[in-house]
Parts: sequence; C-alpha cells; structure tokens
Amino acid sequence: MKVRLTSTLLFVSLAVHPLLAFGGDLKKKEDAVASIEKHKSELTDLSDQIWRFAETALRETRSSKALEDYAEKQGFEVKRGVAGMPTAFVASYGQGRPIIGILGEYDALPGISQKAQPVKEALEAGSAGHGCGHNVFGAASLGAAVAIKELIAAGKLKGTIRFYGTPAEESVGGKIYMAREGLFNDLDVCMAWHPEDKTRADVDSSQAIVDFIVEFKGKAAHAAADPWNGRSAVAALEFFTTGINRMREFVRPTVRMHYVIQKGGDVPNVVPEYARVWCWLRDSKRTGVEELLARAKKIAEGAALMAGVEYKLTVQSGDYELLVNQTGAKLIHANLTWLGPIQYTPEEQEFAKAIQRATGVEEKGLNGSIQPLLPPKPDPEGGSTDVGDVSWIVPTLHLSVTTAPEGAPWHAWPVVACGGMSIGHKGLVQAAKALAATMVDLFEDEKTREAIRAEFKAKSKGEVYKPYVPDGPPPLPKD
Ligand SMILES: [Zn+2]
Repeated sequence: MKVRLTSTLLFVSLAVHPLLAFGGDLKKKEDAVASIEKHKSELTDLSDQIWRFAETALRETRSSKALEDYAEKQGFEVKRGVAGMPTAFVASYGQGRPIIGILGEYDALPGISQKAQPVKEALEAGSAGHGCGHNVFGAASLGAAVAIKELIAAGKLKGTIRFYGTPAEESVGGKIYMAREGLFNDLDVCMAWHPEDKTRADVDSSQAIVDFIVEFKGKAAHAAADPWNGRSAVAALEFFTTGINRMREFVRPTVRMHYVIQKGGDVPNVVPEYARVWCWLRDSKRTGVEELLARAKKIAEGAALMAGVEYKLTVQSGDYELLVNQTGAKLIHANLTWLGPIQYTPEEQEFAKAIQRATGVEEKGLNGSIQPLLPPKPDPEGGSTDVGDVSWIVPTLHLSVTTAPEGAPWHAWPVVACGGMSIGHKGLVQAAKALAATMVDLFEDEKTREAIRAEFKAKSKGEVYKPYVPDGPPPLPKD
C-alpha cells in the first residue's frame, strides 16, 4: 500500500489526479483498502466455501447463510428471508442518509462442476459450478460493505451502508422480487459489479428480456383409427415456432429470440393433447421487448386458431436493460485508476494460458489492466441481468473485474476453475477495493451524488417501475 500511496502522490504533483475531480478523502480510501486487506483471508474463505457449495437458484441455503452470518458477526443488522425468498437477505449498518446499497449474488449454474485446475474435470460429476463467478461476486461486495461499515463505526463516514443478498440471478431474478417489495426504493445510489475477463467501469447497457411459456391444449384421439376427432397441440406448437422463426427476418438486428420445447407429446399413435414451449425474447430496450411480446402473443393466437386448439401465454419473468450512469462510471474509473491494475504471478498466467489452449482461444493470459473509459455503444452485447431492474429504481453504478482468462468461454468450466483459486481471489480483492473506494466518494461527495441522481432522473424520464414477474410469491423449488 505504501508504494501505491507514494506513486499516487507523485502523480498528483505531476498532473491532475483523476480523484481530485471527486470529493472523497484519500486517507479514508486508504483505510477502506486496508480494511479489505485485513479481512482478505476471511473474504476469500467465504468465496471458496460458496464455490464448493455451488448451490443453484433459490437453493442457496448454505451460501446465503455463510454471508449472513459473516455480516452479523461484523455488526450488521441482518434481515433474513426477505421478499418471500429464504435465501434473500438485507444487511444494514449505520443510520440516516445517504443510504448506499451494494448488491451481492451467490447462485451457481447446474451441470458445470469443475475442479480449480486448468484441465476440464468435474469436482463432482453432474453437479453445479460457479460458471458466472457469483461466489466471488457475493464475497467481494460484502467485503466492500464491511470496509464502509468500519469507517462509519470509526465516525469517519456518516450514513447507512446496506448489503443486498440477491439470490437466483441465473433463473427467476431474485432482485426483481426484492424490487417488487420496494426494498431498493430509499437508496441514494446502488453499487454492483460482475466477474469478467477484463477490468473496467461499465458504460454499456445489458439487454432487456421477457421470459414466458406458451401452452397449447388440444384433443387426444387415436392417431390412426380416428385422427379426425383429434386436435393436435403439437401442430399448434409447430405453427408457433414457425411463426417466431419467420418473424426473425422482420426484427431489428439487436433482437435475440430463443426457445426450448418442454413438452411435445408422448407417443406418435396418440394425437397430442398438450404441448409447451419456453421462450425468451430480448432487445436493447424494454420498449422493444414489449413490442416483440405483443407480436408473439398474436403468433400464439394464430397458431392455436390454425390447429383448432386453445392456448395460454404466461409471462414468468424478465429484466429491464441496465440504465447506465455515466457520471457514476467516471467515478468508478477514477477509483480503479487510483488502485492500479491487478498483478499476476507467472504461474497464474500459465494457468490462464493452459485454459486458453484447452478452449481454443488466443493465448493472451489474464488481463488485469484498467480498460479506458470509452463512450457507450449504441446497443449492448447479448445478455441480461436483474441488476437492470434495480437500475430503473435507483441510480446504479456497475463495474467489471477480471476473474478469468481473456476470451475464455463464460458460464463454463474455465470460470469455475479460476473462481476457486488465486485468480478469483485477486479479482475479489480488486473488486472489493474499487467498490469501497467509490463508496467513500458517494458518502462524502454530495455534489457527485447529486450529479449521479440528476443523470438518473433525466434518463429514466419518470418511468414507473413495473416488474415482469407475475403477482404471487416467487416460484420456490418444491423439493
Ligand atoms: Zn452472472
């Protein structure tokens, strides 16, 4: 830390240091960074525990408990099982304004269990694995919250820090149910990050998405003896998917449409009575997704008419696109620049290159440098997150931190492998420090906070948040 402080001071004397644009006290940032260093082994232990638990959406019982218990031990007031989800929680410390929130995730992905090694081999065959690095995500965010808590406890910062334990990002979107309950409404600003193959302040949005089921109900009959008495639900399903596939030609290039057939009859000699397709539609903005959904409804209706069957379309979930805050991105970028790049050992680089060789991507190793702050792209790359929903309720600042080799496939074994060893640990520490340093600014610098909120107001244009999830409790697993 001393070396960095010296170089920072030197930099200040030679040029306008990026942090001088913001009001946060450098000494307090040093304290926050020191707190993360102090708790480093506890935080990496937490991350490793969650990595081993590898619990999937809404089953994150041990993972959420590990984070809750740690937060409680650190003096946070913890509300467990919020918004109807046993694995969702909110941990708060301090009082009064500003109230700064920070999001943490901890769900794993099914079927991609992997050892912490650069060769593909399951830790436990058929089990889940942290292929999106959410074990690191949860632990790093909590580490940043603890650092801020210590500054509040020491009387160095005033206000409230609130950590959100948000389950099921990979499926139903726990944040959407928490948002529906209004749990984010009183925040001044919210922070989030995500493991990545690069480190940067995020200025690009994510895709909006709607997730729905279409069911067709026809009439069974003997397929050879009296097919004229039958009405095939599978015929309707085929008309529906044909319609969706024909629609592909007449949508914007930013649209993504994908489906799986969940039920398509039992045996050929019975006219199928029931068929079911699960469909996701995405576009750059929620308004685009709304249009697609309206068209898909018409296609389902037409398909049912042609086949002479009934249909039912049920929206299950969906995310807003991320509402990017440029003022916030500049603040994060300044803090990342102050921290400097992640340094890797030759062994870590070799680990990464072995993965790159194994997955057929260029052997670039790990990229821990801070990416330049570029202007936002007009449309996001493919992918959605329930952080998007939070970003329409409260200004949300987002960063990415390196936890995996450049170009390595995501939601796959390389991310699991790196998330369970020192590469993931280094990403954890870097993310926690960047989040904590940025939050020092958010607590201290009212002007920047106001600028962030003004940008949010101008961009959200009074949009009334309307979650895609249906009324009623979250769909908890039954077993
Ligand atoms: Zn993820």
